[in-house]
Amino acid sequence: MSAEYLQPKSFEELESSLLRLTDKSVILAGGTDLLPKIRSGKKEPDIYLSLCRLEMLGNIERQGDWLKIGAMATHEQAADNPLIREYFTGLAMACSRVGSQQIRNKGTLGGSLANASPAGDIMPCVFLYGGKIEILGKEGIRFVEAKEFLTENGRTVLGRNELLTSIWLPVEEGRKSCFTKLGSRREVTIAQISLCISWKEQDLACRDMRGFIGAVDVRPVEFECVSLLGERSEEKKEEAAQWLSGKIRSIRTSRTRESKLKITEAEKRYKERAVKGIVFDAAEMIERERKSPVPETAKRGSTFHTEEKGEGK
Ligand SMILES: Cc1cc2nc3c(=O)[nH]c(=O)nc-3n(C[C@H](O)[C@H](O)[C@H](O)COP(=O)(O)OP(=O)(O)OC[C@H]3O[C@@H](n4cnc5c(N)ncnc54)[C@H](O)[C@@H]3O)c2cc1C
Repeated sequence: MSAEYLQPKSFEELESSLLRLTDKSVILAGGTDLLPKIRSGKKEPDIYLSLCRLEMLGNIERQGDWLKIGAMATHEQAADNPLIREYFTGLAMACSRVGSQQIRNKGTLGGSLANASPAGDIMPCVFLYGGKIEILGKEGIRFVEAKEFLTENGRTVLGRNELLTSIWLPVEEGRKSCFTKLGSRREVTIAQISLCISWKEQDLACRDMRGFIGAVDVRPVEFECVSLLGERSEEKKEEAAQWLSGKIRSIRTSRTRESKLKITEAEKRYKERAVKGIVFDAAEMIERERKSPVPETAKRGSTFHTEEKGEGK
């Protein structure tokens, strides 16, 4: 049986299309994750609900103390958006390092979050900023805290007839942030560990530092001793790296059975060792951001890659 293709052009059409979705149906955004699964036969949808005609879902706009990012905003649009670059520099950096130019032109922020991949670069940033996810369903719009959007098994709270419509991030004047990831190569690399860190500058010091680590568990993990990176001593950075290694080890040992997270034991052991590189890289990036009068995103994000720093697997 051939699949049906729905392409709503208005909010009303979208609402009625959502009601028609079955357990076999799919929502199609940029297709960078979904289409390879369909081509490989992993999914055989009965209905495709394409979002490509819903221009309003691509808007990025400030609404009071919040920034509203439409689910269909692409990584490229987010990386270049002046509001994201100014207030959510770490997110702009993360978007600028997703996949290749082609992937960034097609892949959307909504698709990235709905896909719920533990290795996704966007989720740690949305956790860090304390974002909310706007969801449209049968009962209208509901909001979910980013931290509750992902469930323990790496899925999301989205129901069969629900659509992620926007990501809302609270704007906080004077808060800086940055993002870095460890990958096996410089370009088109899936994160093996990612770090998104934010802080406020006060009296020439970093205050209220917060951090989230991606790709080490099914959900981003809080970097509890991240404030050590705001200090200029090598020992403190070393201590932060040791904490992170220990954290990765404890995640590994706390698992009584293998989760759906596809990280092998060898990879986890490698990550434990490689954290030192990424922690020092993050500390350098914080220093650069602190000295820079304008957000460093003009130079786009960095990927700490293992060959470059002689840390091969
Ligand atoms: C070569 C390659 C490299 C990549 N590199 C990276 C990388 O470096 N970092 C990274 O984070 N990701 C990477 N990705 C993953 C991917 O690009 C992102 O997850 C992407 O943003 C997905 O967005 P999309 O619009 O293409 O989603 P789609 O493929 O269209 O959809 C993905 C899933 O989300 C669902 N979905 C999409 N939009 C919505 C919505 N609004 N509401 C509800 N459900 C929805 C779909 O039904 C599907 O299940 C890479 C992918 C490829 C193929």
